[in-house]
Amino acid sequence: MNLPITDASANKPPPPSAPGVQSGPISRSPEEVIGSVLRRLPQNGLVMTTSFGMEGAALLEMLYQANLPVRVAWIDTDFHFEETYELIRRVQARYSRLVFERFSPALSPQEQARVYGEALWSRDPDRCCEIRKVEPLRHILDTASVWITALRRSQSPTRAGIEHVMWDWQHNVLKVSPLADWSREQVWEFIQSHGVPFNPLHERGYPSIGCTHCTKPVAGAGPADYTRQGRWQGTGKTECGLHGRYPAPGHPASAATPDLQHAGERNRNTPGSA
Ligand code: SF4
Repeated sequence: MNLPITDASANKPPPPSAPGVQSGPISRSPEEVIGSVLRRLPQNGLVMTTSFGMEGAALLEMLYQANLPVRVAWIDTDFHFEETYELIRRVQARYSRLVFERFSPALSPQEQARVYGEALWSRDPDRCCEIRKVEPLRHILDTASVWITALRRSQSPTRAGIEHVMWDWQHNVLKVSPLADWSREQVWEFIQSHGVPFNPLHERGYPSIGCTHCTKPVAGAGPADYTRQGRWQGTGKTECGLHGRYPAPGHPASAATPDLQHAGERNRNTPGSA
């Protein structure tokens, strides 16, 4: 069966053949990244963000088993599916040692409608995501020294250059993504073999789950398939803006030198930042 699945790993260049030379991402298992990186970093600023998709569910289980003092921050956009809210309740009960923190947008849905008009997501989804996701994320990262994510390279071309450990120039924080090497199949196998709670919408054709207004099922997609085609359909938008673009190594954009001057300006202009 041909599924409309995006797999950016198919476009990745082959690894370098010169002995002793390593360019591009190094292959590491999630457990190696957790054990050899996260354990060695300051333990009082470890913050994982998640929208409780399948990848986030798997990573939560790994971090819990590793007994790391991780704070789990999630953004309540007010527009999640009821299945997502129910999963959050189950996850909080299962991982009782972890600290869960809920962050909200500054505007309620009613206030947003008063200021920007009804259904902003249908007219200006970038503005809506900025208000309901990106601004709350800035507050989350104000107190984080390490930002832990469940991003994977093969999720989309814009994530193909994600490294296990990298500096996030958009938010000026160290970012660790233990699942960077994994495929969706590996995530799904882990979920099943460890009895990890997951969003039942994944079994109803929703490979990637966000807000109700901007998430649709994808025909033929099962829980082991991943595509972002069900998100913001018909708009050309594929990312909410929480994560920058990470083109694959070798892509011209990946060679861009970080703009230190503007990174500093962004930091100074970030609401609530020091
Ligand atoms: S995903 Fe849609 S509803 Fe949710 S914040 Fe973004 S534009 Fe708004």
